[in-house]
Amino acid sequence: MTNKQEIMSAIENAGRIAIAGHIRPDGDCIGSCLGMYNYVHENFPCSVDVYIEEIPQEFTCIAGCDAVNSLYPDAAPYDVFLALDCGDLERLGKAQKYLKEAKLSVCIDHHKTNEGYAAVNVIEPGAAATAEVLFDLMDQDKISLNTAEALYLGIVHDTGVFKHSNTTRHTMETAGRLLEYGVSSSKIIDGTFYEKTYVQNQILGRCLMESVLVLDGKVIFAAVNRKVQALYGLESNDTEGVIDQLRVTKGVEVAILIKEMNPFVWRVSMRSCEYVDVAVICTKFGGGGHVRAAGCILNGSMHDVINALVKEIELQIK
Ligand code: AMP
Ligand code: MN
Ligand code: MN
Repeated sequence: MTNKQEIMSAIENAGRIAIAGHIRPDGDCIGSCLGMYNYVHENFPCSVDVYIEEIPQEFTCIAGCDAVNSLYPDAAPYDVFLALDCGDLERLGKAQKYLKEAKLSVCIDHHKTNEGYAAVNVIEPGAAATAEVLFDLMDQDKISLNTAEALYLGIVHDTGVFKHSNTTRHTMETAGRLLEYGVSSSKIIDGTFYEKTYVQNQILGRCLMESVLVLDGKVIFAAVNRKVQALYGLESNDTEGVIDQLRVTKGVEVAILIKEMNPFVWRVSMRSCEYVDVAVICTKFGGGGHVRAAGCILNGSMHDVINALVKEIELQIK
């Protein structure tokens, strides 16, 4: 039996299943978890719990949101635990305990830095989104509109609406097949990706205005310190999309956005255009991700953090 067959047969035969995604959930995490939740809930007799941190407002239109548990209570060991779109154990956050206790732990993911922390792992770095991997795992006759919509959401977000270089023919074909279940692409694309709150647009403007070019314009960075976050009352995902706008600055190869989480602790997002492998850089600093999109957490002043990152980029550019 292949890993995929083993996973799907374990799901069909389980009594209790849990699904969880990574901390600070993004569109692919939410779409993958809710897609799998809907699929299992609608087709199999088992009970299914889904654990995700608080869902950002724009994603609450996706079916299954009401079932999400963000409290991570202690629970009896699950027969099957599914970690979706989560590149390492640490990023499972409070759901780690379910994985450790489960009779069968499963990881389905597409991060190239994923080392396979579950008992059964399906990791496909060539897939644009975990949702794309899930579609191939599922029996297509058992996919409902609700499941299709969630998977479509995942693909839309991790490809930046089919524009990032991770978008393949297979990605597009998967999205195309999802449309056949009746998914409204404008509802998902405009409603969850392009629509921004006033504050989100303000912080985008501010980041662009204060951005700095270094290394002959090949690198651009912006920083959002805690004072600015408090000033705008920012939620954790309000800067989503800022890095994409920084990246498309003419001449830029690498974009960096850093956000201060605690004094001298910064969350780093990196994107590259053509040749710098940002996953290598972020892995070096204890994080991970993909070739063109990665992240990590760094300590120090804003200047320490930027200097450390730029030094690593310089090594690759030379
Ligand atoms: P972000 O910049 O937060 O959108 O993340 C870009 C990519 O890097 C995503 O695929 C994340 O899963 C990954 N990533 C971000 N931060 C971390 C981290 N601290 N550790 C490992 N992977 C990360
Ligand atoms: Mn994700
Ligand atoms: Mn993903």
